[in-house]
Order: sequence, then C-alpha cells, then structure tokens
Amino acid sequence: MEISDDLKKQLVVWRRDFHKYAEPGWTEFRTTSKIVKALQGLGWDVIYGPDVHKADTRMGVPDAETLAAARPRAVQQGADPELVEKMGEGFTGAIGILKTGKPGPVVGFRFDIDSNDLFEPTDDETHVPTKLGFASVNDGAMHGCGHDGHAAMGLGLATVLSQHKDELTGTVKIFFQPAEEGVRGAHSMVAAGWFDDVDLFVATHLMAAQGAGHICTGMDTSLASTKFDVYFEGVGAHAGADPQKGHNALLAACAATTN
Ligand SMILES: [Zn+2]
Repeated sequence: MEISDDLKKQLVVWRRDFHKYAEPGWTEFRTTSKIVKALQGLGWDVIYGPDVHKADTRMGVPDAETLAAARPRAVQQGADPELVEKMGEGFTGAIGILKTGKPGPVVGFRFDIDSNDLFEPTDDETHVPTKLGFASVNDGAMHGCGHDGHAAMGLGLATVLSQHKDELTGTVKIFFQPAEEGVRGAHSMVAAGWFDDVDLFVATHLMAAQGAGHICTGMDTSLASTKFDVYFEGVGAHAGADPQKGHNALLAACAATTN
C-alpha cells in the first residue's frame, strides 16, 4: 500500500498544527474539533462528546475554571464552536467508525492526543518547532510525548483506509483518546463500552530515540502502565517517651520509593 506524497505532506501539516495548539488532558477541544471535522470529511461515522465517555469514570478532569478558559481559547484558535459546546465539561474523546458493509472483524486503533504541562523551549537554533515556527502558542502546554504525531497518524490511517475501503472487510474503529498523560483518559472510553466488540486492537507510540524507519512491536504489556495508591500508616512516638514504640511512616515511604 503506497502512501501518496500529498498525504505525507498533509501528515506534516496536521502534526505541526496539533503541536502549535497544544492542549493538555481533557481540554483538547480544538484538537478534537479538527479531528472530528477531518474524519467527517473522509466520510467516517464520528462519535464525540459525552457519548464517548462514561462520565462518572473519568479520572483527573481539570476544574471547571480551567475547562471554562480552554473552550473559548479553542474556538479562538480555530475550533468549531458547536463541537466545543457539545464537548462541554471536557468530553474530548472522539471515535471514527468505518463500516465496510462486508462481514469481518472489528479492528480498533488507538491514538492519544493530549499535550504535556511543559513550556516549549524558545531556542530557535536547536529546537525544531521554534526554529520552523510551529512552537506551542499555549503557555504551559507542549507536545513533549509525541501525541501531536499520534493524532496526525490517526488521521493519516483514516485517510488511507478510506481510499482502500472497497478492499476491506469488517469494521474499523479509530479511537482518539484524550488525557493519556497521567494515565487518565482510556478508562472512561472503555467503561462506555466502545471496546466491547473490538476483536483486534492496536495502540501505538512514537519513540523518537529509535530514529525514523524503525517499528518496534510488542504484545499486551508493551509501554503499558497502570496507577495505584499506596498508603503508609505509622505510629507516633516522641524522643522523650517510648521512642522505640514508634513506626515511622515517612521513612518507610522514602525507603519504598528509593527501592
Ligand atoms: Zn505518550
């Protein structure tokens, strides 16, 4: 399957656009607006807004003030106001669905779309986005993990699959997942049931250190992570009275951390 020069150029345009307007987890209003429009333009069915997430299972959603500031900024930076309105309180995931009309498996691809809480380097000698003029214009938000590239790759995949729809069978779902940083975004999309019918699933991550032209594959646990809370409970004691009866929770937590 050949990828056209036009699409190669478009991938660069998409990636730089997402990079310039970086949006952290659950505030990807502009990013998702662009993704939804692009998928609709390709003729995909698109699910977005609250239907994508099981609301009460979303993790680490920013406060209402942060969301209220992010929405008008997204519109000012080119997001569709109606789409932003529908995404409301940070329901910023999107799912593209391509039904081929022929029997076959449901194949899912996942691309994450959020930026990091970072300031973009301003060195225009060595930092390529600054040098070429697509550095983040949103202070404190920068794509440092490559999810700008992931969003572009998802749209590139959608483009190629659309071009070859007649050769495909089954159904393809492309998941554009918000809030990957902090391991927050996937759970509520899974809880909403969108993955229940997926037979084959692929998730990807760019690894700049590998250099271009390499593909590393892994099953199940490749780049996987999870979160858990650990509590250390101690027993208070004081030097003047029975210090030997104390259990130092802070020291235990420090020892566990360094181990
Ligand atoms: Zn990442």
